Amino acid sequence: MARFIFVTGGVVSSLGKGLSSASLAYLLKSQGYKVRLRKMDPYLNVDPGTMSPFQHGEVFVTDDGAETDLDLGHYERFTNISAKKSDNITTGKIYRDIIGKERKGEYLGKTVQVIPHVTDRIKEFIKKDIYKEDFVICEIGGTVGDIESLPFLEAIRQFSNDIGRDKSLFIHLTLVPFLKSSNEIKTKPTQHSVKELRSIGIQPNIVICRSQHSIPLDQRNKISLFCNIPIQRVIETVDVKTIYEAPISFFKEGLDREVLKYFKIKPKKKLNLNKWKKVTKTITSKNLKEVNIAIIGKYVELKDAYKSLDEALVHGGIDNNVRVNLIRIESDRLKLSNIKKNLKNVCGILIPGGFGKRGTEGKIGCINYARKNKIPFFGICFGMQMAIIEFARNELKIQKAGSTEFNKNCRPVIGLIEEWNKNGNIIKGSLKNLGGTMRLGLYPAKLQHNSLVKNIYKKNLIYERHRHRYEVNNSLRSLFEKKGMIFSGMSPNDKLPEIIELKNHPWFIGCQFHPELKSRVDKAHPLFREFVKASLKNSKN
Ligand code: GLN
Repeated sequence: MARFIFVTGGVVSSLGKGLSSASLAYLLKSQGYKVRLRKMDPYLNVDPGTMSPFQHGEVFVTDDGAETDLDLGHYERFTNISAKKSDNITTGKIYRDIIGKERKGEYLGKTVQVIPHVTDRIKEFIKKDIYKEDFVICEIGGTVGDIESLPFLEAIRQFSNDIGRDKSLFIHLTLVPFLKSSNEIKTKPTQHSVKELRSIGIQPNIVICRSQHSIPLDQRNKISLFCNIPIQRVIETVDVKTIYEAPISFFKEGLDREVLKYFKIKPKKKLNLNKWKKVTKTITSKNLKEVNIAIIGKYVELKDAYKSLDEALVHGGIDNNVRVNLIRIESDRLKLSNIKKNLKNVCGILIPGGFGKRGTEGKIGCINYARKNKIPFFGICFGMQMAIIEFARNELKIQKAGSTEFNKNCRPVIGLIEEWNKNGNIIKGSLKNLGGTMRLGLYPAKLQHNSLVKNIYKKNLIYERHRHRYEVNNSLRSLFEKKGMIFSGMSPNDKLPEIIELKNHPWFIGCQFHPELKSRVDKAHPLFREFVKASLKNSKN
C-alpha cells in the first residue's frame, strides 16, 4: 500500500511548498521508489482555467487536458512524471460534485455537511487513481489558519487515522525570519504555526524551515522542543541560487533520509544528484556567455505568469551553454514608434500565449519587426495567431484581418472553427461555457518534410499540449503559402494548422500548442533549444 506524505505551509504563503514537494519526490524516485504528486487547492474555482495569471500565475496543462495549478509544472519538471487530471483538486470541484449528487437525490434524507461529506470526498480524491505507488505526496495549498483550507486539514487528519501513522507523514513548511535590527533568527512564528496545526489535531513529523540564513543549533533546538519534533527532523532550507539546487540542498539536510527512516525503509537504489549538480554549475557559472531574449506579453510584471516558459528558456540556455537574459516587455506599452528602440539589444523575440485584445497591436508590430529584420521569432499559441494576423495584414493586404476573439467585425484569419467550417465536427469549445471547454491537452501534429520543424524534431508525428479556443482559418491557407508561409505542422486530418514557419527567414516559428509545458532541465524542448541557438547566432552578427 502507498505511503502518504502531506505537505502543509505556515506563517506566510509562497514559501516554496511546491518546490519542496517536488524535490522530495525526486529524491525518493531516484532512490528506486514510485512516486506520485498531488495538489489540493482551497479556492472555490473548479479549476484555475478561468483565472487571470495575475491571480494565480500560469495555468499548467496536463497531457490528459486538465487546467491545473502551476505547482504541477514544478512536479513534472523535477520528477519527469506526467501529472494527470486526478492530481489536482479544488474546493470548487469538490462542492460541484457534492451538490450534483445532492440534486440527484443521492443523499436523500440526509443533511449534507462539511464533515463528513466534504471531508469524505477529499479523502476519496487523495487515494483515487493510485496504482502501485510507494509514495503519494499531497501538497495542501494556502496557509494553515486560513478558513478555506480547514476542510482539507481535517480530511488529512482523518485520513492519517484511517490508514495508520506508519503509512502517513506530515511535513510542515514555515518561515523562520531574520530580524536585522536585533541580528536574530526568530522561531516564534514557526512555534505558533505548528501550535495552530496541533490545535486541529495534526502533529507534524517533519518541519522544514525556510530561512535567509542557516539556522544555528540553539534555534533548531528551540523549534524541536516547542514543536515536539526530534531535532534531526527540523530541516532548514536556505535560499538557493537556482531552484534546481533545491534537491541537492534538501539531500544535504537529510529530508529524504528522515522520510525513509520514519517509514522504516531503506533506499532501493543509490541516489544520483549529478544532473542537478551539473545544471547548478552551469547556471551559476560566472563566465557563461549571455543572450538577450525578449518576452512580449500582457502579464510580464508577474513573475509566475509565464513560469513554464521562463524555465523552458533556461533549459534551452543550458543546452547551448549560455545564460538567457529574459527581457520582459509589456505589450501594451509598445507603439509602432518605440518598437525598434525597445528591441534594440534583443537577439530573439518570443510572444507567448495570451487572451483578449489588450496589447495585441504591440505584439503584431513586434512580429512585423522580427519578420522584416530577420530576427529569430517564436510565437506560442496566441503568439502564432498574432503572426498569422500580421502576415495577413502586411503580406496578403487583408487590412481587416483579425481574430474573432477580440474583434467580431474583422476578417477572421483566426476564429472559432464553426465560423468557417459549417460541418466541422472537430472537438471545439463554444462560447456558452468558458470553463474547461478549450482544446485542451495532448494532440498529434504531422510535420512536413524538409521543413525547419521537421529538422528540429526529427519525427514525422509529434504530440504536444494545447490550451486554446481559436484556430487558424485553414480555408485561407493557400493564400498564405503563395506569399512564403509554410504550414509545416498540421493536425492529422489536415484541418488545423499547428505550426507555421517562413521561407525567407532564418528562424521564424509559430506553434498552436505550448511546447514549454514539456521542457525538462536535462532535456530542453527541441524548439526552445533551437530558438536559443538561433538567437545566439543572431547575437554574433
Ligand atoms: N486566446 C487564444 C485562444 O483561445 C490563445 C490561447 C493561448 O494562447 N493559450 O485561442
